[in-house]
Amino acid sequence: MRNGISRRVSQRFVAGEKLEDAIEAARTLNRGGMSASLDLLGENVSDEAGAQRACERYLAMFDRIATEKLDANVSLKLTQLGLDLGEELCEKLLEKIVEHATEQGNFVRVDMEGSAYTTRTVEMTKRVRAKYKGVGTVMQAYLYRAGKDIEGLLAAGCRLRLCKGAYKEPAEIAFPEKKDVDANYVNLMKVLLPSGIYHAIATHDPAMIQATKNFAKERKISPDRFEFQMLYGIRPDLQRRLVREGYMMRVYIPFGTDWFPYFMRRLAERPANLAFFLRNLVPRASHDGP
Ligand SMILES: Cc1cc2nc3c(=O)[nH]c(=O)nc-3n(C[C@H](O)[C@H](O)[C@H](O)COP(=O)(O)OP(=O)(O)OC[C@H]3O[C@@H](n4cnc5c(N)ncnc54)[C@H](O)[C@@H]3O)c2cc1C
Repeated sequence: MRNGISRRVSQRFVAGEKLEDAIEAARTLNRGGMSASLDLLGENVSDEAGAQRACERYLAMFDRIATEKLDANVSLKLTQLGLDLGEELCEKLLEKIVEHATEQGNFVRVDMEGSAYTTRTVEMTKRVRAKYKGVGTVMQAYLYRAGKDIEGLLAAGCRLRLCKGAYKEPAEIAFPEKKDVDANYVNLMKVLLPSGIYHAIATHDPAMIQATKNFAKERKISPDRFEFQMLYGIRPDLQRRLVREGYMMRVYIPFGTDWFPYFMRRLAERPANLAFFLRNLVPRASHDGP
């Protein structure tokens, strides 16, 4: 994280280190007809004080969103709220944030992390959703279990974000081949869209987007009944095009100092990003001498 080049390249994917940077990015997106989801970077906190701090910052974020009248919600990770330290602490903090969001008519998206956390994330989201409506989570199409989880989450009335999945998972639990992940993605999208709940189709893949548009048209599901989501800094051209075509678009805006794991996932999922990073690295390295 101290490496200046990593820092510079990571800025392509991260709005900045301060809440102010994320607010500014959200304002710009709102002006362009897009909504936002603000994510305070951070995961796997190892002490209670860290989890409490993250909770306070999320509460303050909702207040700031309301004051600024932004079209934005938030995304968070349960390991940022202390899931590694125990479910009780984590659930208490999540509930506090979701209660606050629900009071403001806003919404908390619980990001989905690696498979060690899937069951706890699904079950905790359902429990909190039974008390407050402003919470939903994420399903990863690479997981074999995703279809079954979706059934339970829909029965609990949860809004879902469908993505392909960003973590390295073994073949026992996740499709190893991209074509199978894509096929499952399309199947799951076809379960979500007609469910009557407002879901998010999160992808930069033109084939997934086209399949979604086709299915919605065929089933006469109007474009305001769901939203597309993309990550900050990735395919902004496609983000704008979908807005022009009349679709809802929300951009996930990560910010904060703890950007390293997020940045590594973005490099890992696309070799071209790694090449971009290395191109930045090489000329500098040659000036640096032995
Ligand atoms: C809003 C949002 C929220 C997400 N939340 C989660 C989550 O909670 N849990 C989780 O596991 N995953 C999450 N993801 C990540 C997701 O699982 C994928 O890893 C990521 O979106 C890449 O998959 P893709 O659908 O874009 O398709 P891919 O087939 O990977 O990519 C399709 C095309 O998109 C572009 N693209 C994709 N990734 C990049 C990149 N890093 N840099 C530049 N271009 C790229 C390229 O043009 C590529 O050809 C989220 C993604 C989005 C958009």
